[in-house]
Amino acid sequence: MRVFKFGGASVKDADAVRNVVRVLKEVGHKDTVVIISAMGKTTNAMEKVVAAYFDDKKQVAGLVHEVWTYHEAILEELFENNSHPVYTKVKELFEEVRGFLAWNKSPKNAFVYDQVVGYGELVSTTIISEYLNEVGLSNVWKDVRNLIKTDTNYRDAAVNWERTQDQVSSELDTGKLNITQGFLGSDDNNFTTTLGREGSDYTAAILAYCLNAESVTIWKDVPGVLNADPRNFKETQLLNKISYREAIELAFYGASVIHPKTLQPLQRKEIPLHVKSFVSPKDNGTTVGKGEDISPKIPCFIVKKNQVLIKLSSLDFSFIVENNISEIFKLFHDHRMKVDLIQNSAISFSVCLDNKFNGLQPMLNELKRRFKVVCHEDVSLYTIRHFDDNSVKSLQNGRSVLVEQRGRETVQLVVK
Ligand code: ADP
Ligand code: ASP
Ligand code: MG
Repeated sequence: MRVFKFGGASVKDADAVRNVVRVLKEVGHKDTVVIISAMGKTTNAMEKVVAAYFDDKKQVAGLVHEVWTYHEAILEELFENNSHPVYTKVKELFEEVRGFLAWNKSPKNAFVYDQVVGYGELVSTTIISEYLNEVGLSNVWKDVRNLIKTDTNYRDAAVNWERTQDQVSSELDTGKLNITQGFLGSDDNNFTTTLGREGSDYTAAILAYCLNAESVTIWKDVPGVLNADPRNFKETQLLNKISYREAIELAFYGASVIHPKTLQPLQRKEIPLHVKSFVSPKDNGTTVGKGEDISPKIPCFIVKKNQVLIKLSSLDFSFIVENNISEIFKLFHDHRMKVDLIQNSAISFSVCLDNKFNGLQPMLNELKRRFKVVCHEDVSLYTIRHFDDNSVKSLQNGRSVLVEQRGRETVQLVVK
């Protein structure tokens, strides 16, 4: 079996959905599992619904309605006959969200978040599955929550591999075209869980692993993995081949074209990952697989924006040693901060963090009781893999560098 994944950009409007049909026709669609994200920026819109639910309830109905009208416009372009059953199915999904928000009693933000945002994927796959049937690509719609079982760590759930393997083996129709959702799973009580933002690439890897798939292809709005994000760098070059190890490094440092959790399951079964353009599906794109590190071997640039740099020093000039460091890391963990870079000296400790879950202020308050704290918000972390002098200079040029760290293959700069 092959596993395909189409992200938000590839299904953002009716033309994009028609393009998915074109891709499937060009590259074949038998014996394939297709994983689809929410359309366009729907997940962001659903996050706003959740935020309003907790902060300003009177906005909720209007925000849900906006998400509905966006999908309604796509439906109307794809299905001229407005008594097509897809309209009822999609409306029912919106009724479910409204019902949940009306009756929910849980005060837990992360739980509510997962019950609500996942409707983006349920709606998109419902529309696309129906549309594919309509244009002759007969397929089965699968609820991925019956396939991927997780723990209850809402918003960042961990996969229960054994249960997932059992479900995938018994539930998927091999031989057919299966359409399912990225990003979602469910816990032991069948509540919806999510695998973390941008998690649909990871869904592809999980299903591929359990299916012993022959390959995974993620279809993107870029020609493949480039040596830099074209949104941030003018000149970029396509990387033709990358080893699993190198791809894990690039994704870990923040090359957001591949979700970092995607590589490990694929590497374990040596399943190749193709990153290809949904605009020109016949082009080779990038293959991640066994073998040489990276080809061509050129400097690769990665930027993580909106990071936080914290410098801690002891209040009494004493050393920062193992026991303080373990305490500091426990705080990071408790406040769900992701650590991107650390640097320490005898009496100070600098760390660059990703404040993904807004845990910064409460954490700073705790740190300030024990340490002198200097905090720079909104810094960028630049990483260059396979750096040379020119590439480092090009980044330093005219910027205020707060921290610089060099390894054998990697340079990292924290820049204001
Ligand atoms: P989707 O969610 O639709 O699958 P993403 O938006 O997550 O796709 O990933 C595609 C985007 O990743 C590109 O539009 C590009 O801006 C960005 N990107 C970041 N780093 C790279 C890179 N090294 N190579 C190619 N694209 C990159
Ligand atoms: N729709 C989810 C998100 O935007 C998952 C994904 O697209 O990968 O984060
Ligand atoms: Mg994405």
